[in-house]
This record gives sequence, C-alpha cells and structure tokens, in this order.
Amino acid sequence: MASWVEQRLQALEEAGLRRSLQVLDGPPAALTSLGGKETILLCSNNYLGLATDPRVKEGAAAAALRWGASAAASRLVSGTLAIHRELEERLAAFKGYPAALLFGAGYLANVGVLTALAGPGDAIFSDALNHASLIDGCRLSKAKVVVYRHRDLDHLAWLLDREGGKRRLIVTDTVFSMDGDLAPMPELVELARRAEAILVVDEAHATGCIGPGGRGVVARFGLEGEVEVLIGTLGKALASYGAYVCADRPLIQYLISAARPFIFSTAPAPPAIGAALAALTALEGEPARVKQLQANSRRFRALLRQRGFGVGSGEVQIVPLVVGDPRLTVALAQALAKRGVFVQGIRPPSVPDGTSRLRFTVMATHTEEQLAHAADALVAACAEVGIDPSALAEPMPEAVAAVGVEAKEA
Ligand code: PMP
Repeated sequence: MASWVEQRLQALEEAGLRRSLQVLDGPPAALTSLGGKETILLCSNNYLGLATDPRVKEGAAAAALRWGASAAASRLVSGTLAIHRELEERLAAFKGYPAALLFGAGYLANVGVLTALAGPGDAIFSDALNHASLIDGCRLSKAKVVVYRHRDLDHLAWLLDREGGKRRLIVTDTVFSMDGDLAPMPELVELARRAEAILVVDEAHATGCIGPGGRGVVARFGLEGEVEVLIGTLGKALASYGAYVCADRPLIQYLISAARPFIFSTAPAPPAIGAALAALTALEGEPARVKQLQANSRRFRALLRQRGFGVGSGEVQIVPLVVGDPRLTVALAQALAKRGVFVQGIRPPSVPDGTSRLRFTVMATHTEEQLAHAADALVAACAEVGIDPSALAEPMPEAVAAVGVEAKEA
C-alpha cells in the first residue's frame, strides 16, 4: 500500500501534477502574507472583500454566541435552527425564487441536486467545462451523461434531438470557474423549453459579481421564472461556507426528502450562516461593491492587454492565462510569488490536459496600485521563466471546447 502511494506521488511529481498546500499567514484579504512576505492575493474567491469585513466577522461571532458553534445535528433531526430558515428566505428573495434550501457546500449541493433529480433511464446534458462537482453529480446519478461541447448550442440541440431519457436535465455553470466566460443563458432556456428538459445552473462565480445588484447571470437576463433550479455557494462573494439551491416550493420539498448530502450531513454551522446573512445585507445595501469588482476586473484586463497579454475586455473577475505545460505554469506562479503576487497554477484534472494556466481572480478591494504591480510582476516573471507575454492568452473557446470533451470522456 505505502509503496503504491509513493509511486503514485512520484508519477504525479514527474508529470508536474503533484499538488501541495500553500499556507497563508494572513486572512484572505487583497493584501495578505505568504511565507512571511507581504503579498497581493490574486487567487481568492473573496470577490467582494466581505470575508474580512468587520460586519461579516461580527455576524459570525454574534451567531455563535446566540445559536452555538455547531448545529450539532442534520437538518432533518434537530439541526434546523431559525437562523437557517432566515437565510433561506433571504436568499430566495435575493435570487427571485419562491424558496431556497441550504446545503453544507456547493459540492454537496451539486451532487445532491443531480442525484435527486436524475437516475437510471434519465439523461443529463452537461457542458464539457462544467465544475467537477457537477461532473461528480452526473456520475453519481447513474443517469446517462451526454457531454456537449463548451457553450456549443448547435451541438447541444443536435444531442437533444438524438438522446432520449425518461427525464432530461441540462446542466451548466453560468460563469465557468476556470475560464471566466458566461453560459449562453437565454438560448439555453429556449433549448430546454423546446426539449422539455429541466435546466439546472450553478451560479457559484456569478452571485455577487454579475447582474443587477450582483444577483447573477440568470437575473441579468431576467430568467428567474424559467431556470428551474439555481445553485449558488456561500464560500465566494458571500464570504462564508455552504451553499443553497433555489427553486419552486415543491422541488425544494422534494430535495428535503431526496437529496442525500442534505439528509445525511450535519446542518451548516451557525457562525457560517451568521456571516452569510451579514454579507448578504452588505451586498444588498452596497451595490457599488459589485460595480467596483467589475471596474477592477476591466482594469486588470486592460493592464494585461497593455503589456501584450491576450486577454479580452469583459467585466468577469476570473482572468485565465493559458500556459499549457503544467511545470512551466508552476514555475511562472513561483516567479510571481517571489515578486509578491500570489496566483495559483491550475493544472489537470481541474482543467483539460494541455491547458494548464494561471487563473487570476480579481477582488473589489484591490487597489489600482496592487493591480498595476501584479501586471508588472507578470511581465518580469515571464522574462524569468522565458515566456513571451503574447503567448499567454485566455483560452480560445473552440480549442477549449474540443479539449474539454476529450478530457471528460477519458
Ligand atoms: N461550483 C463551482 C462552479 C465552483 O467553482 C465550486 C468551488 N470552487 C463549487 C461549485 C463548489 O462549491 P463549494 O466550494 O462551496 O463546495
């Protein structure tokens, strides 16, 4: 056993795919500390800076004092506290849905929803670049999984015409986590309607970042009534830990009885709920934060473009730069860390083979100087590892689509 593990680790090392933990010695703020050195954090999902906001920290502390440190039971036993119900009602109202249900994490919500809604004899149509938790939900459901090319509506329509299934689901990220592009939501709604398929979307990286008041991509297109199931996480812009599913009341009632990660896991801890409530209040009261995040994202993209990097001009806060080779990606991230910029090298299986990348995530709380410093540091880091900046670009949609399908089917 031990030698098998050693061999696996060795093989991962040789392929440039071994992972290790990097320990921050400060909180996940725009400026933090890594290895004792002041460092600009450019790979956190603390998009609005609320994880370190005093009101949100107080929200967590107050909830611990009022409700305890743990819910100490699953929701269906004695773990449902009034504070859970309060957050569910607030999230449903924020997202424009009749009801919402909390889950322990986004991973659990995605697995729980897909396994509750689909089973043997059903079919799930899944974008090639969906998040791993959706992929795992597809696999665990035992439904037939039909992967369509990334954002390719013609491919999806073609597959919907050919693949049957008792019940059919279409599932997609709305902001793709590793690519920062958006799902074509209005067209997906139309395709789902025509094919009588249930549309399930993951707004993990959209909530708090995109759409009116940060209500996400579904709200941006006014599709609240038409997307049956909307999933979001609390661990990103909402500055906490956990997740939620929005849907109509019968579907939420059904999940309470059928979603195994909901049924068989301890209810989210009160401090996490208190933090999310306080973050939601801040988000609703301060829409300027969302605008600031979008302005910072545009600014960072412009700074990179000025320095010859091939990034687009959008407002999405996820800015990937494909390096290709995993070892070179890690070397570039290390060269950046030396210059006080922390960004992760993202490698397979998080992204398809051959598309290892730096994935910058911008925060509303980054200053102009920090973003400019990071852009300059990237130029210097490229020089150190011998990369021409013009070789680093956001993934080409078509190239990624093709690679994505292969990776998924492997
Ligand atoms: N969906 C997407 C698109 C994600 O990026 C992530 C995590 N990064 C998740 C779901 C999982 O959410 P959680 O971290 O709450 O488990």
